[in-house]
Amino acid sequence: MRPEIKEYNYDWMLGSLLKVASEIGNSSEKEIQYLTNYIPYFKGTLSVLLREGEVGTCFIRLLDKYFDNILTAHQNSKKISAITFCLSPALFHAMNIVPVTLEVMTGLAGLLWKRGAYDYLDYGCELGFTETSCSSQRGALGAYLAGLGEEIDFLVCDTPGVCDTNANAFAFASTFMEKPFFQLNYPQTIGDEKTRKYHLDDYKDLITFLKEQTGKDLDVDRLREVLKEVDKQDDILAEIEDFYCLVPNPIPVIFNLFIYIGRFISAGLPEYTELLELMLEKVQQNAQKGITGLHFEQEKARVFMCYIDHYTLNLDFFDWLNRRGISHLGGILSRNFRDNTRYASELEKSTYGIDTSTFETMLTSLSEMNATLPMVRSIRGPFDKPNMWLEESISLARLYHADCVVYNGTPGCRNTWGMVKPFAREVEKAGFPVHIMNGDAFDDRVESWESTVNRLEEFLSIRGLL
Ligand code: SF4
Repeated sequence: MRPEIKEYNYDWMLGSLLKVASEIGNSSEKEIQYLTNYIPYFKGTLSVLLREGEVGTCFIRLLDKYFDNILTAHQNSKKISAITFCLSPALFHAMNIVPVTLEVMTGLAGLLWKRGAYDYLDYGCELGFTETSCSSQRGALGAYLAGLGEEIDFLVCDTPGVCDTNANAFAFASTFMEKPFFQLNYPQTIGDEKTRKYHLDDYKDLITFLKEQTGKDLDVDRLREVLKEVDKQDDILAEIEDFYCLVPNPIPVIFNLFIYIGRFISAGLPEYTELLELMLEKVQQNAQKGITGLHFEQEKARVFMCYIDHYTLNLDFFDWLNRRGISHLGGILSRNFRDNTRYASELEKSTYGIDTSTFETMLTSLSEMNATLPMVRSIRGPFDKPNMWLEESISLARLYHADCVVYNGTPGCRNTWGMVKPFAREVEKAGFPVHIMNGDAFDDRVESWESTVNRLEEFLSIRGLL
């Protein structure tokens, strides 16, 4: 790693930038313009966020709060756990543990810094961690492996079997940093009693592990409070979801990113509820006026992202959709498969509900919520089995009147690369043109954004979509 990169902590650098950005909300146009002279690389990303008005500034505040919690955790006698986006942070918030969600931390480096997370991605490889691993964990992890972040006290992941590279990243980090590690088994199936019971017992073991690490018991009232907040958030999310059915789609492109980043780091916390309330208000206003959530163009095409988005400086992917008149219908990361959502109404037994009546029902709710998180639920093996990636993608694309389906991932994602071509063939047969992006969502060196956008433009033009 370059010596200059070792001068500052990763989380501190991101947190400082967001701290300044969070104070911009009340500034005048002139003040913002003056300030942007001092943030040449961040100003593009900032302007895309500020374009969303109050919702954008609320999202920045949510991130700022998240980093504040990380940076002050130890002085406030809280423990820090590295976790993955396939694991709900709700339990961690209920136990006063600060979750560092590696994939979000890596994505933010790509969105906020011109140099992205490149040096940190490479550092993991310098240490012997394979370069064919998923870049989503490897970026931020590189910083923590180099000791360039708040000290991680322990690690928890829950995707062995579903995602080998994710599980290996956590196992490698635990060994390298000599920190305790809990690996939650993924449920083999969703909805059958035997697996449900197994997963619940496993979840209870996780709680025992967390109690040992923190030296504190799980406060049942606090758990209830967090779960009730999640319940409220799920209701708002279900309402927002319904608006994807409208043509034109009244949901601004960037809201998809807000939905899942917020959920991966702040599920169960009031700041996420506030963000969702503001988003819903904006979407309702757009719907009442019959207008699209796009800022520059009328809606010309509707894209369903069957996997993840692209996280590069200036929020280029989201901005490009906006400027080309393409609305974003969400993807695997923005959906929670809660039982109150329209898209999940036919997926009997493969959703979750929230029941806060007893300790046992709360644990069941949490463990089932976990089992429906993106990669645990959708990418769990054969892509064409009932309720899995193919069926789910086609039904969502139909429900939301998609004009095309686009895949984007990371080269390290064997789970999806191993089946994306037959998957694409089947989706085409169902009537949706499919484009497979070749880049890395978290590492622009694999394919530059300019090349990525050229391929996207070519696809849209050849298929007559724009
Ligand atoms: S993107 Fe693929 S490799 Fe990365 S965590 Fe998800 S399933 Fe695993």
